[in-house]
Amino acid sequence: MYYVSVQTYWHDPEGRRCVELARSEPSPGMLANYNEHYVETPHYWIAARAAVASSEALGFPITLANSMVYGDPDDPADPSELLREAQLAEDLAPKCEYCGTADDVETWTWYDGPYPDDEVVACSENHAELAMERRYPYVGLSGMPGYMPNQVYRFCDWSEARRWAVDEARRWQDQDLDEEQDWSVSYSNDAEYFTYEQGYETIDAYKA
Ligand SMILES: [Zn+2]
Repeated sequence: MYYVSVQTYWHDPEGRRCVELARSEPSPGMLANYNEHYVETPHYWIAARAAVASSEALGFPITLANSMVYGDPDDPADPSELLREAQLAEDLAPKCEYCGTADDVETWTWYDGPYPDDEVVACSENHAELAMERRYPYVGLSGMPGYMPNQVYRFCDWSEARRWAVDEARRWQDQDLDEEQDWSVSYSNDAEYFTYEQGYETIDAYKA
């Protein structure tokens, strides 16, 4: 964990106020009347940026501390260096596959995809699902005899999904089904969406 707090240090005879950026734990001299500047986060980039923002707002220098070392007001950190490090840490951190944030991501497992126990790094269960849906194009079948209503199949790639959908549409077209039988095959990924109704391609809804 990283902690940002406003501190004075017992070893500083002048009692200067500092914005402390601490790893592991904050130093013991935290000033309660600056509580709104207190930050606790597992992410270095969030803590470093918060420390720089508080330092600018309050006009106090930034001190660095960890469980072994108290902050030293005579050796303040360079804010621009901290911001550079923050950017680097954020760039290297794992990102949500759907929205790209590096904050609070975790690994989710998806059981309904073309691969068993597929994993995705995402910021929430919702984004994990959306990322997986974006990864794999699907073919939807509706009103097809012998299938569940509105059944969805997922494929590893776009061409495989398309081929399967076209084959399936042709197969049903050739069956000369009752005119009343209302069936369709649709397939989709982020870039394209097609529907075959009664074997005819009817929609080219969007292309990126
Ligand atoms: Zn996300």
